[in-house]
Amino acid sequence: MSPIIENTDVVVVGGGPGGSTVATLLAKRGHRVVLLEKETFPRYQIGESLLPSTVHGIGRLLGVTEELERAAFTVKRGGSFRWGTNPVPWNFLFAIAPELSGPTSHAYQVERMKFDEILLRNAARHGVDVRENSPVTGVVDDEERVRGVRYTDPDGVEREVRAAFVVDASGNRSRVHQHVGGERVYSEFFRNIALFGYFEGGKRLPAPDSGNILCAAFDEGWIWYIPLSDTLTSVGAVISREHAARLQGDQEQALLGFVDRCAIVKDFLSDATRVTEGVYGELRTRKDYSYTNSTFHRPGMALVGDAACFIDPVFSTGVHLATYAGLLAARSINSVLAGDVAEERAFGEFEGRYRREYRVFYEFLSAFYDMQSNEESYFWKARKVTNFATTDLEAFVSLVGGVHSGENALAAFRDSSGALADAVERTGDMQTPSGERMHHLFGTPVVREVMQEMNNIQVRGVQGAAARELPLLDGGLVPAPDGLSWLEPAARVEEA
Ligand code: FAD
Repeated sequence: MSPIIENTDVVVVGGGPGGSTVATLLAKRGHRVVLLEKETFPRYQIGESLLPSTVHGIGRLLGVTEELERAAFTVKRGGSFRWGTNPVPWNFLFAIAPELSGPTSHAYQVERMKFDEILLRNAARHGVDVRENSPVTGVVDDEERVRGVRYTDPDGVEREVRAAFVVDASGNRSRVHQHVGGERVYSEFFRNIALFGYFEGGKRLPAPDSGNILCAAFDEGWIWYIPLSDTLTSVGAVISREHAARLQGDQEQALLGFVDRCAIVKDFLSDATRVTEGVYGELRTRKDYSYTNSTFHRPGMALVGDAACFIDPVFSTGVHLATYAGLLAARSINSVLAGDVAEERAFGEFEGRYRREYRVFYEFLSAFYDMQSNEESYFWKARKVTNFATTDLEAFVSLVGGVHSGENALAAFRDSSGALADAVERTGDMQTPSGERMHHLFGTPVVREVMQEMNNIQVRGVQGAAARELPLLDGGLVPAPDGLSWLEPAARVEEA
């Protein structure tokens, strides 16, 4: 029997943060959007530590900031790292810019079941036709372009939705991305495996850093320690894939064994008990999560979030990349559907900006791994950065490696023009030699690049229509005043 066919403007596959973001920002421009989600929410997902640009930039564009505040997630002021040469954890803080004022200098640690459901229900409130328990089983296409998807509805009936665009935001394990063409290229550098579970009653860092993510290196890898509530902690070990065999047996013994070899986490968990029931009772593993697709779009289809790429858990970049890509895809589709920009140009901008963000984070995270010098350990020796030519990057690595704890503000932005070096406050701790090195650190291109676009998103979220932005890419487009589509730079100047 042929499937029941319907028509809409855009189909989004997957209701994670990437899918909810793109769907909501399309619906805000009045388009008909069908979002197909395999599971029924709330559903479990890993990736609990967020960055401020997601909470304050994307969150405001989506209209969920207040709801996120009410959800009372753990406030994350930054990251604390037992990493590099110093045995004392040092802090990476989301400091504040004067014009952004205090409320945006933090992110959240979230139970993804709650966070993702807030974003998905918000999409529905904005008019997105959200259909759960509706797995996509195939893509409808021809030589020219993608024209829709096939899915199974909750009653088991095969259906087809035709649309001008399909956005695949179906995450890491789905195969829908294959229809965009190209191949998935796995990173040799981040070829790791993660084993994770949940604990009740773990210790906290002293205030005001008690909500920070703690990342602690040990000989065979590193451990994340994420305070999800006053008592619940997400704990995961990231180890080399060569050790995969050790996870074949008793996973609890394996995880506790890693904890045992990581002094600070061992101490923090000394009075804690592992959760063994409910959704947090399971120990889970993830591998092969670090990759990028060789193309992110084809006519009629785009990849967003883990469907396109992911790097590594170490700096909490996954949800940022997914929601950022959702914003970029929405801008491109809104522009094309309005007839303002040709499809190829709009998606060239999408892919160019997305790849740029991926690349700078890839370099930043590689450099970050490099800071953990332990020549005795196979894991860390294999992750020495050897192929970075820029001396600035090397300078960055050694500078951050030497930073000791203390209240060093790593991200204090005065404006979105990239003048970051001048934005670090040289008061208090910043007048120490390490403070001076931190100041110098902000002059390095890699850090400036990492921060610049996140800062743009945050400024836009907080201040509404942003000050005129320059093209990020050579000859590229600029965001419209409301941030939801692209304009040619000349058109934006005329409007201003
Ligand atoms: P997802 O959140 O995976 O959502 C995809 C959705 O698509 C799911 O709901 C799924 O059910 C649905 N779906 C799948 N197939 C289909 C189908 N055929 N039809 C319909 N629906 C479908 N990121 C962070 O920001 N912070 C962290 O601390 C962090 N830690 C991590 C730790 C580990 C070990 C790993 C592996 C990743 C971590 N990440 C982290 C990354 C983070 O998990 C992802 O980047 C993020 O969830 C991507 O969001 P998404 O919307 O692209 O996909």
